Amino acid sequence: MVQNKARRRRIWIFDLDETLHNSLKYIIPHLRKTMTAYLQTHLNLDEDNANQLRVDYWRRYGLTLTGMMRHHQTDPRHFLYETHQFPDLPHMILREPLLRTMLQRLPGRKIIFSNAPQKYTKAVVRILRIDKLFEEVISLEHMHYRPKPASYGFFRLIAKLRLNPRFCIMVEDQLRNLKTAKRLGMKTVWVSRSKKAPSYVDLHVTNVLHLPRHIDQFELAPR
Ligand SMILES: [Mg+2]
Repeated sequence: MVQNKARRRRIWIFDLDETLHNSLKYIIPHLRKTMTAYLQTHLNLDEDNANQLRVDYWRRYGLTLTGMMRHHQTDPRHFLYETHQFPDLPHMILREPLLRTMLQRLPGRKIIFSNAPQKYTKAVVRILRIDKLFEEVISLEHMHYRPKPASYGFFRLIAKLRLNPRFCIMVEDQLRNLKTAKRLGMKTVWVSRSKKAPSYVDLHVTNVLHLPRHIDQFELAPR
């Protein structure tokens, strides 16, 4: 009984792309193309230079958009609208057939916390047929366009949903985002095929479907 109660107090904070679905095959290549094209058009660059700058901003800030806002006064709504046009989103999302079942069986509150824009995030969650399982979908607009790994979005999330970070478990593919989560007192799960995990990762899984096998290792309690 005590254990069940403790399990239900858990708060699962999930990233979306490359954590709950495979975005490497269609989504990421498409976004690379549309963002490079945006930089070409609006900064008057050739394709190579636009591509290089896109990567540079992504590395420095966590999102290409942040570099565009800081250095070129880009309107985030315009950038996100123009770059997040997908010819056939339902067929670009690669769904794990057992994802929904796994999430249904996972005790505790569940939240999506993604650096992607709201319209896209909500559409993907619907396509994955997991929209009813999440209490809230926090997207880039909720973070006022200040993406993870910046702590700003984390603080917005914690305040909006009145979360105690000590009960939160952040599930992510990006290490830099887990580093912030850990610093704020959350537990961290890294979803990655990489071999070795850094010390701030509490659990390393190669597929999010493996999560239930390990949940009992999380002792969550306020300090
Ligand atoms: Mg991700």
